Amino acid sequence: MASLSLCSAHLSSTPSRSSLPTSSLLSPPLSLFQSPIIRRNSSIFFTVTPRQIPQPFPTCTSLVKCCVKEPLKVMISGAPASGKGTQCELIVQKFGLVHISTGDLLRAEVSSGTEIGKKAKEFMNSGSLVPDEIVIAMVAARLSREDAKKNGWLLDGFPRTFAQAQSLDKLNVKPDIFLLLDVPDEILIERCVGRRLDPVTGKIYHIKSYPPESDEVKARLVMRPDDTEEKVKARLQIYKQNSEAIISAYSDVMIKDNWRGIPTRLNNIPHSRDIRSYFYEDVLQATVRSIKDGNTRLRVDINIPELNPEMDVYRIGTLMELVRTLALSFADDGKRVKVCVQGSMGEGALAGMPLQLAGTRKILEYMDWGDDETLGTFVKLGAIGGKEVDEEDDIFILVAPQNAVGNCIIDDLQAMTTAAGKRPVVLINPRLKVPFGCEYNIKKPTKIESESFKFNMVRMSYPYRYELYKRVTEENGKEKYVLISTYSERPTPDQINDAFSGKSREESKKPSGIW
Ligand code: AMP
Repeated sequence: MASLSLCSAHLSSTPSRSSLPTSSLLSPPLSLFQSPIIRRNSSIFFTVTPRQIPQPFPTCTSLVKCCVKEPLKVMISGAPASGKGTQCELIVQKFGLVHISTGDLLRAEVSSGTEIGKKAKEFMNSGSLVPDEIVIAMVAARLSREDAKKNGWLLDGFPRTFAQAQSLDKLNVKPDIFLLLDVPDEILIERCVGRRLDPVTGKIYHIKSYPPESDEVKARLVMRPDDTEEKVKARLQIYKQNSEAIISAYSDVMIKDNWRGIPTRLNNIPHSRDIRSYFYEDVLQATVRSIKDGNTRLRVDINIPELNPEMDVYRIGTLMELVRTLALSFADDGKRVKVCVQGSMGEGALAGMPLQLAGTRKILEYMDWGDDETLGTFVKLGAIGGKEVDEEDDIFILVAPQNAVGNCIIDDLQAMTTAAGKRPVVLINPRLKVPFGCEYNIKKPTKIESESFKFNMVRMSYPYRYELYKRVTEENGKEKYVLISTYSERPTPDQINDAFSGKSREESKKPSGIW
């Protein structure tokens, strides 16, 4: 089975320790998103959240669990802009399935001007469905091809009607897994209407939440003809009319989850397991995405209360769990991971280490790393320094590197990153005053400057921009996080306060950096 290639040839050349999955589980989103993640116990956990168009709010996602044999047959369903394309890309990359997208097949027919294309064009442009007989014949022909039979398939955008589902049934075609991406309407409409395609690179942008990098790219962006608000609403309507019948046809291979975005009660200390898991998964997804993008120097900041040493409660277990989540996920992907905790620094009476890290190495040794001797094979423990880098290591996770009083960690860190070369080095909650490449920040400022944002959350999960969420208490007493602003740089407390009071700031007054 193909393993998730994180970034370089160097990484993907390592032997995979992932075995053939016996069960799959679609876990909650978390901007997650996003790659299908292989986890322990021979289970695959897909974390599915639409990715290419960043979600202004976290989406709800369905949970799917089933048993699979080779070759894998997967069906994916979701409303327009629910993120099927993104998830398909990840699944195909991971499992080598043949991706059969009826939308893509039809668009290809249209652009080659075939008979099918001529018939389909009008329906497609108006946002309505192409007649069943055309699509069914097209899909049946594609599924019968040798590559699909041999490698398995991922069917995207089909079936969309009950008749289409029945046609598959008649052909005895049944998926092993049915993935349903369930996203609220208002988010889908916003995404579609702002969605733009770069015809040169194929990259998808969003005019508000994921704008193009340059004016040159901006100038050539195009909008899909069926992405206007009116047509999107019509497509959603059609999707809803048909989806129930389709979903019921595959209910035996689908489980629904009631995930609803950013967890509430973020100010609870300690956080519940669910809330902690949310942050671990969010960091994992951001990290995987970034490494896949080719970044090798990563910085992860999570300042939920129990991971913020300035707070009155600091929970080292949370930091360790986060590190374990990352390390095991990479290990399950066949990477050799070195988890590094800086050792005692200095000499004699001046020897010491930051209090926060005291005992960390021991805790890591005693932690439950699973039942297959992962610790010592795919996950190794080390310190911080050039000599800690072994040839077999694929990725380095550095736990909260920081200066101890009178001792500076920077030289050791520098030596280590130099020795690591192109291999990813991930700093988890570093306390440093030096730039270190990319940054992933999931931060909930608390007890800072202003009461007004005490219960709110600033979140940045690569490659998205910083998002400021306001916590609101609904009439029934439930909490909700509402996106009130986005920033290209980490917002300052002033900017946050301004966002709450509805003021906008001049661009020139934006902070220039995070250091
Ligand atoms: P998509 O890219 O999946 O959103 O599909 C684009 C358009 O292709 C849809 O709006 C429909 O007009 C058409 N289409 C795609 N799949 C199907 C299908 N299974 N049945 C009918 N029409 C389809």
